[in-house]
Formats: sequence, C-alpha cells, structure tokens
Amino acid sequence: NPAPLNRALLSVSDKTGLIDFAKALAARGVELLSTGGTAKALREAGLEVRDVSEVTGFPEMMDGRVKTLHPMIHGGLLALRDNQDHVAAMEEHGIGAIDLLVVNLYPFEATVAAGADYDTCIENIDIGGPAMIRAAAKNHGAVSVLTDPAQYAGLLEELEAQDGTSFAFRQRMAQAAYARTAAYDAAVSSWMAGAAEIETPPHRAFAGSLAQEMRYGENPHQKAAFYLDGSSRPGVATAEQHQGKALSYNNINDTDAAFELVSEFAPSDGPAVAIIKHANPSGVARGESLVAAYKAAFDCDRTSAFGGIVALNQTLDAATAEEIVQIFTEVVIAPDADEDAKAIFAAKKNLRLLTTGGLPDPRAPMVAYKQVAGGLLVQDKDTGFVPSDALKVVTKRQPAEQEMTDLRFAWTVAKHTKSNAIIYAKGGATVGIGAGQMSRVDSSTIAALKAARMGEECGLAETPAKGSVVASDAFFPFADGLLAAAEAGATAVIQPGGSMRDDEVIAAADEAGLAMVFTGMRHFRH
Ligand code: 5GP
Repeated sequence: NPAPLNRALLSVSDKTGLIDFAKALAARGVELLSTGGTAKALREAGLEVRDVSEVTGFPEMMDGRVKTLHPMIHGGLLALRDNQDHVAAMEEHGIGAIDLLVVNLYPFEATVAAGADYDTCIENIDIGGPAMIRAAAKNHGAVSVLTDPAQYAGLLEELEAQDGTSFAFRQRMAQAAYARTAAYDAAVSSWMAGAAEIETPPHRAFAGSLAQEMRYGENPHQKAAFYLDGSSRPGVATAEQHQGKALSYNNINDTDAAFELVSEFAPSDGPAVAIIKHANPSGVARGESLVAAYKAAFDCDRTSAFGGIVALNQTLDAATAEEIVQIFTEVVIAPDADEDAKAIFAAKKNLRLLTTGGLPDPRAPMVAYKQVAGGLLVQDKDTGFVPSDALKVVTKRQPAEQEMTDLRFAWTVAKHTKSNAIIYAKGGATVGIGAGQMSRVDSSTIAALKAARMGEECGLAETPAKGSVVASDAFFPFADGLLAAAEAGATAVIQPGGSMRDDEVIAAADEAGLAMVFTGMRHFRH
C-alpha cells in the first residue's frame, strides 16, 4: 500500500473512453497488453501495445472463446507479490505481473434485449473476461480491476495522488467487479430460465427472432408480433411476398393452415388447391389442371371462399390467376408463380402473393406450442400418416377404387380441419365440410347442409353428397352420426375406429350398404 502500476491488460468490448485512458497510462510509463480488437484500436491511436497472444504463445482461437485463458495471464493476475513461492513460480515460467486489469464484458444483456437468436446470445456469454475480472478482484491486494469506463477517471486520480494505487481504491474496484460478474451471470441465468420455460426436452428451445410487429393481433385491441424460429421450412414464415400490404396476424395463421394442408398433396400426384377461412378449409380439390382444382375447391363453398386464403401445390399459372381474381381473395401462396400470373395479380393491389420456392415435407417433425394460463403445452406436430396397407376395411362391402381414392383424400382434409371434422368428398374434391362443432352429429348435419347448398349454388340437379364418401377425424361413438352421413348420400366412410361400440357402428354400416375403412389413427385438431 500503495501498489505500483507497471503493467496493464486492457480487453474491452465497450471501447468508450479507452484511447484517452490508455494514453494517460502510457504517459506514466505503464506497459500495455491487449487482446485483438482492443489492441487494434490502441495501435490505430498510435499507442505501443503488446498482444496477449504473443505473451501466451497461443493465437486467439475458437471465435475468441479462448484468448486470455492461459497461465501467462492468470498467473500474472493471481500471483501474490509478497509470497516467495509465487514469485519463484513467476520467475520460473517467465510470467510477468499484471497490476491493472481493464475489462468490460461481451454485451450479453444488450444482445438479449435486441432479440437476437439463441446461438447469438450464447456466443455473447463472455468467459475469459469474467475469469480475469474475478482473478484480479481476488488479488486486489496488488491488482486494480476496472470493469466500467466510468471508473477510468478514478484510477487516474489515484495515480495523481500517489505513486501507485491505494488499497481502499483497489478494494472498492474489486467489490464493484464481483457485483458486475454476479449481475452478468444472473442475466445469463434468467435468460436461460426464460428460454427453458418453453423448452421441454427433447423439444428444441424456441428462441425466435422478430420478423414483424403488427398493428394488432387476432382482434384490434390485441398487440401482436411475428417471430421466426430460424427454420428453413418452405411456408408463410420464409415466403417471398410479391405484392400487397403486410400480412396480418390472422392472415399469417390462415396462410399457414392453407399451405400446410395443400402440401399434403405431392405435385407429382397432380395439382391441388385449398381455400381456407379462419384456419379451416372452405374447399379443397385436386384436378386435371390447377385451374380445374381451383374451380372445384371454390365450388365446394362459394359463399365462404370470399376473402379467403388460397394455397396451391404447384406454380401459379395465368389461367388459375384469372380465375382467382374473379372474387376478393386475401392471400395466395404457392411454390412459385409464372410471369403471366404475376402480371394478372399486379392489377389487384389488395391481393397478396407469396411464393415459397417449394413445398414442406408434411412428415418432417415439428414442435407445436399452445399457451394455457400458467403454462405452455408442447407436443409434436400432427404429422401422422396412415399408409395404404394399414387401412382396414371393416364392412362386408369393399370400397370401389374411386371411393378409396376419395376416402384417402377426405381423410387428409379432415386432419387439417378443426374438430369435430366431417368431410364429404367426391371425385377428388370436398363437397361438404362440417368443422369445429362440439357434437359430431352437428358437424355431419352442417356438412350435409353445405353440400346441399353447393348443389344450389352450382345449379346441380341434386346434392353432391349423393354418392360421396365421408371422413370423420375421430371415431363415431354411436351409429347415429354414421347413419346421418348415409342418409345424406355417402356410400363409403373413413374413420379411426376404436369406439366401444365399433361392432354396432359396423353392423349399421353393413345394413346401410356402406363400405367403411378404419385408419387406427385419430386427427383431433382443437
Ligand atoms: P477484443 O475486442 O479486444 O478482441 O475483445 C475484448 C473482449 O473479449 C472483452 O469483452 C473481454 O471480456 C473478452 N475476452 C477476453 N478474453 C477472453 C477469453 O479468453 N474468452 C472470451 N470468451 N472472451 C474473452
């Protein structure tokens, strides 16, 4: 007391006040050691500085993770100057004492506050900095440690007042240093706790990056934003928007539902179109051409299609674009769009066109989150798929080939429809959709009503439910729902099976002359 100041190590992320301070040290004959970026800044200001990597004999490595973690540095910080053994060890290994440590840490808190992704936050956890700070603070009997540019002036005042630094000053700085590293680790810990809250092993933590802040959410009084999880899955999050204003919260939700549904239909199996309202399909169809598929999807429910979201499994062409602009559509999403189609859309300012560059793999695993009061439900996305050989015909009558094709189609649509879902389909198109009812019978009734209305809207001689097939997302607990479907005109049924009363339901199907297929898998979507 006072302690001499011959050698200083400077390693700072925040370079505020650094140059003036370093110049003042150099003017007092203090030797300067420094790490990469700090050394560069000092040299550019004309100061003489020795690189830490020269002292350690190791280059800075692993993206800066390992720079100062070395006995040549930590020995210089920790050695007791009045301990013979320590001094001998310094001499033996050529370790020079470091009397002043100037470190401020990687800006972890600011990085988190800026909404950086998970990996970026991790990379901004400073390791070597806190290690040196704690070493220097422990050895405050000899070493001064500065962790904030606001402390630079105080050190220079110390040097003015005496030749070296006082114990009281060094202790004050050490106390502040431990407060800083404690706060720093607390920030890391609480950030991890937040990330862990939505991480349920084996699921990946969600650490989104902000893509868009919206004027409002599902309703105008709700604030909202859109975060990306960094996935490259083709879809609404990664799509290119060609025209129109920014997507709203509901647009993004519905566009996602539309594109995920249509992606179930491989382009190699022909064109498919889904029209979505409120995250439920108003119509879905396959066709010889894209425009034929669009027309068939539109015909299923012409009233509901207004203001809908249209998803295509193939490149949007001019013929389909012409047909789409006949009514108001909010968003069209497709793997691609040809120039003629884009030109047709260009005249419709309010229509948004998104292209994704491809279709997602509908069976690629994904995690689904749902918030409940006080917690978060996490599950695998429903990527369930029933291969043909797992379908079990349980009735006396086998489905005809076209019936089987339509059953599979209707089953796929049911998977993407809110429960209770009842889907009538015929000729590769839905003809009646009952969604989101609390009773399966009500969903059946609504689906049949909608089919009847389709018949009227399209000027058909009879309801298209006649000769259709029907899919149910979960089993029919009683025969009544099934019989309602038969009465509406369905000839074949697909459903999971597994009800206590399966026997009754199968007997009723046989009696009504229906063909029925069990999937053994349920597709609830609540
Ligand atoms: P520079 O800008 O000089 O290249 O880096 C300065 C920053 O590196 C300071 O924030 C300091 O805390 C940090 N730092 C110094 N040594 C190490 C180390 O060995 N590992 C890590 N991760 N950071 C270090």
